[in-house]
Amino acid sequence: MTGWDRPLSSFFLQIGHECECDDDENCGHCGGAGEVWIYDNLADKQLPFGRMTLTDVDKKLATLLTAWPSDVIRALQADQLQDRGNEITRYDAVGEIK
Ligand SMILES: [Zn+2]
Repeated sequence: MTGWDRPLSSFFLQIGHECECDDDENCGHCGGAGEVWIYDNLADKQLPFGRMTLTDVDKKLATLLTAWPSDVIRALQADQLQDRGNEITRYDAVGEIK
């Protein structure tokens, strides 16, 4: 999940996958959340307050994924230019986590 964070005027990026535990609260991988995060910009100590530029997002996608929807970066750029928030676009799954 990625997008333009209008209040913070920066991009966010979370990459994860569903846990195989079926939301077991004793799960050592997800703690019952049902989702395991591979990357979360808010937990990235390399970023100032978790704030990402479009270049940061592009580099992180290339580092962590084998492929991603081809127009995501262009769409993010448009969101930034229009200061668009709370809009959801769903893409078909492509590629996988490296
Ligand atoms: Zn789990």
